[in-house]
Amino acid sequence: MNGRVDYRVVADGPLAPSIIDLLGNQIELLPWTVTQQGTDQPVDGVYTYGHPLLDGQMLDRMPGVRVISNYGVGIDHINLSDAAARGIPVGNTPGILDGATADMGFTLLLAAARRLVEGDRYARSAAFTRYDPGYMLGHEVHSATLGIVGMGRIGAQVARRARGFDMSVLYHNRRPKPTAEEELGARYVSFSELLNESDYVMLCVPLSEETQGLIGDPELRQMKSTAVLINIARGPILDTDALTEALRRREIAAAGLDVTDPEPLPRDHPLLELENVIIAPHLGSATVETRQHMAEISVANLLAGLRGEPLVRQVDVAP
Ligand code: NAP
Repeated sequence: MNGRVDYRVVADGPLAPSIIDLLGNQIELLPWTVTQQGTDQPVDGVYTYGHPLLDGQMLDRMPGVRVISNYGVGIDHINLSDAAARGIPVGNTPGILDGATADMGFTLLLAAARRLVEGDRYARSAAFTRYDPGYMLGHEVHSATLGIVGMGRIGAQVARRARGFDMSVLYHNRRPKPTAEEELGARYVSFSELLNESDYVMLCVPLSEETQGLIGDPELRQMKSTAVLINIARGPILDTDALTEALRRREIAAAGLDVTDPEPLPRDHPLLELENVIIAPHLGSATVETRQHMAEISVANLLAGLRGEPLVRQVDVAP
């Protein structure tokens, strides 16, 4: 420790203590308000923690910034072309959270299929007075068909888990992925075929202009009335109003959501009234081990960028 501040970094906080520890005392953290108001102090870097929006106008208020480091893999809240136009590399944390996020996808899938949260509420209530073999029937998971939209790093981990449950796996990407067929036994199908044939549909695509609203009313109508929809990607990929209606009218059986649009939902949102939806507060990568790993990679990216070195994990920006 030399007791001297070497770099000034704007961050949306409060940051987890593990990140503060890794940053050490050579970095002075400046508040996110700097992105709106500017500052007289030089700013060397930006650290995004909880998905704050970041665009070129904000970067222009901090002309010394030479790295943006994101805590997480999803970077839809950062305008990548604005960063690239200013020569600023963006770092993220791909690959290290796939297992945890896929586990959460499967947790939601199993819980929604077997009505676990509804069952928990009932088991705690005064209404539970005797076992009844006729109540709360769910649907089979084993031997059912899972459709993965976005067979990337997380999608592949979901497919591995599905094989353990003897499921048939379909997937859809913009391009087929031969390794998914060879190593995971997954079959490439069109988006419509996936919606028509799957008992479970799991969304694992990044949020982009192309995927925003990917699942709306027409897509929900293509799904089986017994189907369960799981979203572990980003809320805006799924039209919230269309989902609420489809669940209310039982056009699909249930949904499991780790993410919503907006997030959080307004407390009086009709989706929150429904029994056939399970909602988690964006817990995909929320394990002690994965979050520690994310802290290490994101701080390593930040420090590398501040020193003018290549980032450990740098986001590719399409030209
Ligand atoms: P990835 O490895 O880049 O995989 C994304 C997959 O989506 C690729 O296979 C890609 O294949 C496909 N894809 C992209 N655009 C598509 C489109 N328009 N239509 C169909 N398929 C498309 O990403 P990842 O690391 O698995 O992460 C995926 C997303 O999960 C992240 O971007 C993030 O938003 C989200 N996430 C959420 C949590 C959470 O806490 N819930 C945690 C981590 C990540 P093609 O390029 O061939 O289309």
